[in-house]
Amino acid sequence: MSQLPNAARPGMLSFDEAMERLLSAARPIMGSESLPTMDALHRVLAEDIVSGLNVPPMDNTQMDGYALRVSEVSAKALPVSQRIPAGHVGGALEPGSVARIFTGAMIPSGADAVVMQEQVEQISPAQGDTPAFVMVKHQAKPGEWIRRAGEDIRAGTCILKLGRLLSPQALGLAASVGVAEVVVKPKVKVACFFTGDELAMPGEALKPGAIYNSNRFVLVNALRALGCEVRDLGIVPDTLSATRDALRDAASDADLILTSGGVSVGEEDHVKPAVEAEGELDMWQIAMKPGKPLAYGKVRIPGQGDSQAENSIAHFIGLPGNPVSSFVTFLLFVKPFVRIMQGMSKSDALNPLRALHLRADFAWPKADKRREFLRVCLNAQGGLDLFENQSSAVLTSTVWADGLVDNPAMQTIAKGDMVRFLPMSSLQQ
Ligand code: AMP
Ligand code: MG
Repeated sequence: MSQLPNAARPGMLSFDEAMERLLSAARPIMGSESLPTMDALHRVLAEDIVSGLNVPPMDNTQMDGYALRVSEVSAKALPVSQRIPAGHVGGALEPGSVARIFTGAMIPSGADAVVMQEQVEQISPAQGDTPAFVMVKHQAKPGEWIRRAGEDIRAGTCILKLGRLLSPQALGLAASVGVAEVVVKPKVKVACFFTGDELAMPGEALKPGAIYNSNRFVLVNALRALGCEVRDLGIVPDTLSATRDALRDAASDADLILTSGGVSVGEEDHVKPAVEAEGELDMWQIAMKPGKPLAYGKVRIPGQGDSQAENSIAHFIGLPGNPVSSFVTFLLFVKPFVRIMQGMSKSDALNPLRALHLRADFAWPKADKRREFLRVCLNAQGGLDLFENQSSAVLTSTVWADGLVDNPAMQTIAKGDMVRFLPMSSLQQ
């Protein structure tokens, strides 16, 4: 029997097909803004940063010691002709002498090596830490303990490329070449709401049949962690009119609308007809577990006419309501989509989905027609343990997990098998 890869049944999209369709709709948002380097954490660069200088800017010493000419080292004591602390500039090294020098200080002209202070015998009389003469006990090689100008960065080199996510160390690198302001993409504006008559907010008493709206806390904060500006419209009741009103409100000031719940095809699922009425929608059944239903569409921005132009629509992604499904589909689909909107390349946006190959210390004897993303933890032996309840309603598993095992459709796992592991630390980065 022929079988489409990963497709559980006709009409279902494979994970890769869904990803391809979704990401091909993502566009970087327009514009840029300038920010102090100190305030640009987690933003995406809108311009290359090219270094205007060498780093380090000058030859300097890696050690506390003595700068000298290698050719002048002999059994004789040498006079200490100057003292150069970090941040100070010495004079040219007098012939036949050494210079007392401290880590980070500029190498005086004429010197071609530094000898560590531990490899030198001090000859009195000393003034503070600087003796009048020293016996050098080490045959230095030219260049020893000297950090060369431009060794880290050459002037004119691009140190951070457009599309780069700014981590603390990237900001430090920009600062190391004297960049005080960086040009970054504007924040992606995301409006979100959560459908479900059963939802209540923490702080409220739970009525019979109700549950707390945990997705709101996961998704709003996951978006904030990506550096989005989030407009949180809260809970929306399960009616067509309330869902349409919420969509119009959301579209009035958002690049992307994100919702959870109501994307199945039951009578109480109003997202599909509401988005169709306010724009257009593709409903996907993805051959994955958790997270089968996912909706992508476009919602017209009120007052912008009927055009399909990027500035007349807000993108729409509807996630399933089950907490694990919405969290996992957020990490796997929404996050790369947002990264592309933020100005990142598609391959960089998908980088966190690259798997490590690790040993399963568990068995998964029942193959599924759908590609599965199992919640697992790293154990002390370097293998993976499985969370015992893999239900898509069990949020506990996502807090416990160090990552997901990406298990192909129709595949069982025996103890000791090598599996594809997606670390939570990269999925969330
Ligand atoms: P739905 O996708 O609307 O059919 O919801 C699927 C399941 O997820 C149901 O059990 C809902 O009660 C639950 N659910 C939906 N939205 C949320 C939410 N915001 N927080 C927690 N659970 C939810
Ligand atoms: Mg619902």
